[in-house]
Amino acid sequence: MTSLVRDLINTVRGEGDTSHSVDTHMQRVLDQLAALHGQAIEYLDAPQARAQPSPGDAVAALLRAEGRDPTPTALIPGVKSEDRSIPAGGAALSSRIYTPAGNGPFPLIVYFHGGGWVIADKDTYDAGARGLSEAAGAVVVSVDYRRAPEHKFPTAWNDAIAAYDWVAANAQALGGDASRIALAGESAGGNLAVATAIAARNRGAKKPVGILAIYPVAQTGNTETQSYDDSANARPLNKAMIGWFLDKLVTGPADKADTRLDLINADLVGLPPVTIINAEIDPLRSDGEMLETALKEAGVEVTRKVYGGVTHEFFGMGAVVPKAQEAVQFAGEQLQRAFAAPEQAGAVHTGVHTGAAHTGSQPRARLAPEDPAATKLKVVGYAAKHSFSDLKAFEFEREAARADEIEIDVLFCGVCHSDIHQIKNEWDNTVYPCVPGHEVVGRVTRIGSSVTRHAVGDVVGVGCMIDSCRQCEPCLAGDENYCEGPNSWLATYNGPMIPAAKARGGTNMYGRDNTYGGYSTVLVVQEDFALKIPANLRPEVAAPILCAGVTTYSPLKHWGVKPGDRVGIIGFGGLGDMAAKLAVAMGAEVTLFTTSKEKLGEAARLGVTAVLESDEEALEALQGKFDFLLSTIPQRHDINGYIPLLKRDKTICIVGALEPMESVNNQAVAFHRKNVAGSLIGSLQDTQEVLDFCAQHDIGPDIELINMDQVNDAVKRAIDGEVRFRSVINMASIKPDPADATVEDSAIFVSG
Ligand SMILES: [Zn+2]
Ligand SMILES: [Zn+2]
Repeated sequence: MTSLVRDLINTVRGEGDTSHSVDTHMQRVLDQLAALHGQAIEYLDAPQARAQPSPGDAVAALLRAEGRDPTPTALIPGVKSEDRSIPAGGAALSSRIYTPAGNGPFPLIVYFHGGGWVIADKDTYDAGARGLSEAAGAVVVSVDYRRAPEHKFPTAWNDAIAAYDWVAANAQALGGDASRIALAGESAGGNLAVATAIAARNRGAKKPVGILAIYPVAQTGNTETQSYDDSANARPLNKAMIGWFLDKLVTGPADKADTRLDLINADLVGLPPVTIINAEIDPLRSDGEMLETALKEAGVEVTRKVYGGVTHEFFGMGAVVPKAQEAVQFAGEQLQRAFAAPEQAGAVHTGVHTGAAHTGSQPRARLAPEDPAATKLKVVGYAAKHSFSDLKAFEFEREAARADEIEIDVLFCGVCHSDIHQIKNEWDNTVYPCVPGHEVVGRVTRIGSSVTRHAVGDVVGVGCMIDSCRQCEPCLAGDENYCEGPNSWLATYNGPMIPAAKARGGTNMYGRDNTYGGYSTVLVVQEDFALKIPANLRPEVAAPILCAGVTTYSPLKHWGVKPGDRVGIIGFGGLGDMAAKLAVAMGAEVTLFTTSKEKLGEAARLGVTAVLESDEEALEALQGKFDFLLSTIPQRHDINGYIPLLKRDKTICIVGALEPMESVNNQAVAFHRKNVAGSLIGSLQDTQEVLDFCAQHDIGPDIELINMDQVNDAVKRAIDGEVRFRSVINMASIKPDPADATVEDSAIFVSG
């Protein structure tokens, strides 16, 4: 067994893994730990594992070899400590209280040691807790919560909450100040620190002013992270040990997925500032990174530092590893900042997730709820918790319809490429949890008292917008999609197009920071933002018209495409398909430009000419022939090859890519006074027009109907470019009583 440990340590040293170079001081500790001949704990039972030498023992051995005194009080003489027991759920938890030099009252830190919830205790982690007391100038209470496997999940979490409450209640007796309490922990204890803060928020208990999570266990769903891979065989913590710890801890998969343990999937909104410290050579390094992302996406202030060349457990090695001294110093400063600004603790980022009050101009405040007794509707949706998360079932509430609003039972919702950009935060503006969906068709189930446009039972559609400022020049001109109000328009999901944090004066006129879209059972919307679905348009076919349809119809209309015009459509995905059908129905002579040979046949089926983008000869022959070009490619691309195809004064409009494009050679533009333009979705009027136009001309997108639980697969296929048809979610598949509405085999409807 000893040779196994040696092999593993050699791996860290770089003989098996050259990606990290170990700090020389750290290496001495690892060598010393190996010399103590501990056994690999993943092959032992819990009592045996607890008896193995710890990294702290290795540090002490090194100190003794140098003739230094390894006792804690000798290493950090300014801090006094005293052991006391804390009552928790009928048990008495042993704890150690560290008091720094000077006069109190001191701020307080409730500290949880590491050891995977199975091994180690306050003695093993004495140096880290003691160092924090000195560096933060705080009373630290280090708690021996009950460990697994004797006490399975969630005993340790409950003990941690009990300890936090006890410290808050006994702050004064501890020489502390109850208004300044922070949570801290290492490894498993780092998880407990964050989880205890979440629990405090959930219970409405006093919030901590800050959280310090040192190489925390932050997730249990992904054991293939980068650090699980590159530090799989690291010491003193390896991947196998984490599996062993979790095995001892949980009683089943439900425990493992519990968000007290799987923190990145917890609701993190409203937590106080969090400091995360990671070691480079540690399978939990990526957990820290994921937690950082999750916290940021929940609007929490977070600072994370990764210390190079050191391993898990380095934090308490300040006596022999200078980087540990740095880390303790940094942690102390971060906590001091949190203690200095208790009034800001727990503040949520401006405009994120809060139900921020209306400020600034209010042209049309939402009306009061009609029936105060029944203002909440239970809704089931599919949400992405974070940019790295799949869509998962998510229950939430919507406010019931107000006087000018309607409640819609969602029947179908299209999967748009911008949903994918938004789920993955590719536009860097996603508000989580993110319930996408802005191609919504449903049936009106209830109307507010002043509603005149729609009646119960009507089939209506909701596109990208659910409100706008209604008083700016574009809004008054019927161009709501170009609203110039302080928050621009209110999107069907993800809140206002300009959130409060980026708005003039920091206002949010809509009073809603996150809106939940159509991947859900129910939508509530103001009556004038709901469109009429013509009776002869199938609702599932109508859905993508609300975004893909109007996005292509609006520029075709704006640039006056008329019978006999020659129109080129660049890109033949969902948008290109709609654009070609609409332009043909408008009487234009349509040419499709595609990169894919297979799509040439598709184009022929639509009755349009198709040209391969790579066919230079064909492009040459088309120079100066086009009245309008529409580019539907959904990402950055090069349009220089197309500009010569336009006639003088004519326009190429880009609708697919909402991002920086390849630069344009203005010579080609200027020489024939051509226009390079952009266009964003379409107005309410355009949306109604395109619905009516499609019904009248019997055209629509080619769709593939899917069940809600197939949406992650549909997203993957769309990213891989494998979707020939627009995916449309059949919302009956998540309704409580789906009856026979579930799609058994993905039916394909082809219309037009
Ligand atoms: Zn869309
Ligand atoms: Zn406006």
